Amino acid sequence: MTAGEFDSWGRIDRRARQAVSPDGYENMRENAPPGAFLPFGNGRSYGDSCHNDQGRLIDSRMRTRILGFDPGTGIVSCDAGVTLHSILETAIPHRFFLPVTPGTAAATVAGAVANDVHGKNHHTRGTFGKHVRRLTLLRSSGGLLTCSPTENRDLFYATIGGMGLTGLILSVDLQLMKVPSAHIQQHAIRFDSLDEYFGMVEAVDGEHEYSVAWIDQLATGKRAGRGILLAGDHADASCEFPDMPRATKLSVPFSPPFNLLNTVTLKTFNEFYFRKEKRGETVTTVKWPGYFHPLDAIGHWNRLYGPKGLYQHQSVYPADNAPELTARLLETARTAGHASFLTVLKKFGEQKSGGLLSFPRPGFTLTLDFANQGEQTLKLLNVLDAMVVEAGGAINPYKDARMSPQTFDSSFSQWRKLEELRDPAMVSNFWKRTALALPK
Ligand SMILES: Cc1cc2nc3c(=O)[nH]c(=O)nc-3n(C[C@H](O)[C@H](O)[C@H](O)COP(=O)(O)OP(=O)(O)OC[C@H]3O[C@@H](n4cnc5c(N)ncnc54)[C@H](O)[C@@H]3O)c2cc1C
Repeated sequence: MTAGEFDSWGRIDRRARQAVSPDGYENMRENAPPGAFLPFGNGRSYGDSCHNDQGRLIDSRMRTRILGFDPGTGIVSCDAGVTLHSILETAIPHRFFLPVTPGTAAATVAGAVANDVHGKNHHTRGTFGKHVRRLTLLRSSGGLLTCSPTENRDLFYATIGGMGLTGLILSVDLQLMKVPSAHIQQHAIRFDSLDEYFGMVEAVDGEHEYSVAWIDQLATGKRAGRGILLAGDHADASCEFPDMPRATKLSVPFSPPFNLLNTVTLKTFNEFYFRKEKRGETVTTVKWPGYFHPLDAIGHWNRLYGPKGLYQHQSVYPADNAPELTARLLETARTAGHASFLTVLKKFGEQKSGGLLSFPRPGFTLTLDFANQGEQTLKLLNVLDAMVVEAGGAINPYKDARMSPQTFDSSFSQWRKLEELRDPAMVSNFWKRTALALPK
C-alpha cells in the first residue's frame, strides 16, 4: 500500500502500510500469529492507536452497507465501515439524529464505538457507546459473537472504547435520537476571561443540549482565556430540513513546505474569530453541518500544519481546580512558543461511560492542537501531561502519539482488564508503546 493511504489524522508517521479486507481477514484469522492485525476505520484518530506497523490493518471501509433502519424505533443497523455521515443521511429525513456526534462525520461507526467518542452533549447523553444496542464481533478463534449489555457483556464493555483490540467489529445496532429538526438554534456567548466562562458554564449546560467553548489560547494579560461558548439545541419542527450537504468542495490539495498555522497567522485568526461575535449572547439558527462538523467543509485541512504534521493533546481533569489548571495549561503552551489552532474547552457530565477504557469522566476537557516542532513539542507535551496527571486527570489515547507508559497507567486504571480480553491476533503501535511496556 502507498504512503498516505492509512495515515492517521496527525500525519506524524507517514509510511506505507499493509492492509487486508474484512473478507481476507475472515479467511486468515484462525491461523493468525499474535499481534498480526488491527482494524482500521477512516484514520480520524490523531496518533498511533489505529496503526500496527508490525502487522496488517483490516480495512473496515470495504463494508459500508446500512443493513436496516426502523423509523418507528430509530434503531439503525449497519456495517462497521459505515460513516457517521451516511447514518445521518439515512436518519435525518425521518427526523432522527445521532445521539452523540464527534467533530467529524467522516469517522466510521466502528471507529466511534472503538474509541467511545464524545460530542458537545456529553453532559446530556454521555458517550457514543451508551447508545449501542448490540454489535457483532469476530475474534481470531471461535465464531462470530453477538455482544450487548445482556449477551457477552464483558466483551461488549471491553469493545466500547477498546481501540480495536478485542476483535473485528462487523456490525453495529445503534439507537438514534428523535429530533424536531436537524438544524441547531445556536447561542454564541462571548466571554472575556476564563473566570467568566467558569462562572456561567454550569448554568448554560443546564439549559442546553449542546455546549462547547472555543478559547483564544494566544490572548494574554486580562484577555487571557477569552473565547466563545457555543451552546445549542435542535431547532423546532418549523425549521425546514436542509438538503444534505454536497460533497466537500474546498480541499487543501497538498501539504505546504512549512506550517501555516503558526503564532503569527493564528493571532490574526483568533482576533478575527473572537471579534466576529458581538458582546453578550447572539442567537441564530445554523445548519447542522456548520454546527457539528465545521472542519469537514475543508478536505485535508490537516495538511496546513506542513510536512511534519500535528500533535493533539486532549486532557480531562477534575472540576475542583479546573479554572487554575486550565489557565496554567494555556499559559505553559503559549510561553513555550506553541500556538494551538483548535483550543476547545468542555465540561463533561456525570454520566459514567460503560467502556473499560473510555476517556470521558466528570470534569473539564481541554483540547490543544500543535504543529510538530520536534523535540520542543514533545517536551511541552510531557510537561502538560505531568500537570494533568498530578491533578488526577487523564490524557486521551486516540488523540495521542507519544504519551509515556506511566502517563497511560495513571490515566486508565482498568487497562489490565482490557489486556485480559484482548484478541491475541490484534495489537496496535499505541498498545505496544504504553500498556505492553508496563508490568502486567
Ligand atoms: C476534525 C476531527 C474532530 C474530532 N472530534 C472529536 C470529538 O469531538 N470527540 C471525539 O471523541 N473524537 C473526535 N475526533 C476523533 C475521532 O472521532 C475518533 O478518533 C474516531 O474514533 C475515528 O474513527 P475512524 O473511523 O476514523 O477510526 P480510526 O481512527 O481508523 O480507528 C479508531 C479505532 O477504531 C478501531 N476500529 C476501526 N474499525 C474497527 C472495527 N471494524 N472493529 C474494531 N475496531 C475498529 C481501530 O483499531 C482504532 O483503534 C475527531 C477527529 C477529527 C479528525
